[in-house]
Amino acid sequence: MLVTAVSIILTVFFTTVVSYRFFQKEVFADLSSFAEIIADMGLAGQMEAQGFVKPEDELRITWIAEDGSVLYDSYTGGEAMENHKDRPEVSQAMERGEGSGVRRSQTMGKSIFFYARKAEDGTVIRIAKEAGSIWNVYRDTLPVTFLVAVLSFFISVWIARYLTKAFVRPIEQMAADMDNPESVTAYKELAPLMERIRVRHGEALRNARIRQEFTANVSHELKTPLTSISGYAELIANGMASKKEGRHFAEEIHRNAQRLLALINDILQLSELDDAMDYKQSFELVDVYEIARRCADMMAPVAAKHGVTLSLKGTPLTVCANKELLEELVYNLCDNAIRYNKKGGHVWVTVTDRLIVQDDGIGISLKYQKRVFERFFRVDKSRSKKTGGTGLGLAIVKHIAEVHGASISLDSDVGIGTTIRVEFPQAS
Ligand code: ADP
Repeated sequence: MLVTAVSIILTVFFTTVVSYRFFQKEVFADLSSFAEIIADMGLAGQMEAQGFVKPEDELRITWIAEDGSVLYDSYTGGEAMENHKDRPEVSQAMERGEGSGVRRSQTMGKSIFFYARKAEDGTVIRIAKEAGSIWNVYRDTLPVTFLVAVLSFFISVWIARYLTKAFVRPIEQMAADMDNPESVTAYKELAPLMERIRVRHGEALRNARIRQEFTANVSHELKTPLTSISGYAELIANGMASKKEGRHFAEEIHRNAQRLLALINDILQLSELDDAMDYKQSFELVDVYEIARRCADMMAPVAAKHGVTLSLKGTPLTVCANKELLEELVYNLCDNAIRYNKKGGHVWVTVTDRLIVQDDGIGISLKYQKRVFERFFRVDKSRSKKTGGTGLGLAIVKHIAEVHGASISLDSDVGIGTTIRVEFPQAS
């Protein structure tokens, strides 16, 4: 509305100024051709001779001698008029052949236009004409301007209301029914934002559900060992256990407590990994082969306990990573390869342009291959538990790989073995 008001005022102002200039030019052009005709034909002399006097006429013709005295004037006849030598248009005409000027008229809102021309005999013909001044023009256009302004005001109010409503409607609809964003139809320019909000909302819902499921799973997983611990401890406390049994119960308590610790460690690790941004700052150049070598050393006794041979080969591979996380990743993969193996089995850790952990263990059937990376998913729950698994190992591996922008692929055949490859992005 403000823009409309300002543009109307500016338009009226400048159009009037420009058209008034044009009008002035036209008036002077007319006066100039009149003066030329009068001078060329010696009409002033004839009018004087005829005694032509007409004060109401639109044009006033004055004939001035070289010394400035008035020879003839069509309004008064010319007698007893003061010397005109000092009138600007007259002196200009005497000097340069022609002159012009505008003076305020006594009549309200009018101006007098003067044009003077020197004739061949040295006398000056001056023509005066009264015409509307610029204020006059403004005053005449005022009602129209006002009408246009009022009309534009109402039109702009209407358009502003209409546009604002149209802009805001989809946003309001979206806000009102966040759970059903597909029902909102947005205009083209808003569509990308709406789409992003939709996606984000979907993600938020999904994350909330995953978190809820995770919490439920965690509670369930923690409950089992705690129930065992509590039960065995109660039996001991009641004095119901013989010495031999007491020993067994204590062992069970210890085993379940270990399990609890392992679970809590993994859960903490996962929740820390959720803030992936924290890790980016700790990235450094690390050699995957060196990490695999240390891991192989550390796992050798465990492998021996399971009757599994662990071997390592390959070449140095520098990647940009968090060292502890990378150690955890290699450790988890080796640990699985040993635990889901058989006596006399093998684990081959190879570092080339990627990390490969291969075993000839029990394998994973095709239908479970996708799911093993889920939190708490275990193909064989009792085997996992017996070997100290938490069901979170591969979830952590997947998460660590994501933090590093690495991709994981899994190949497995039941009874033949499993190969997991981790490919890191170039450490540039
Ligand atoms: P867990 O703590 O139970 O080992 P993981 O997340 O590490 O949990 O693994 C999920 C499941 O995937 C395991 O319970 C197991 O059934 C299967 N799995 C993982 N690695 C292997 C492997 N190398 N060979 C066979 N099965 C495996």
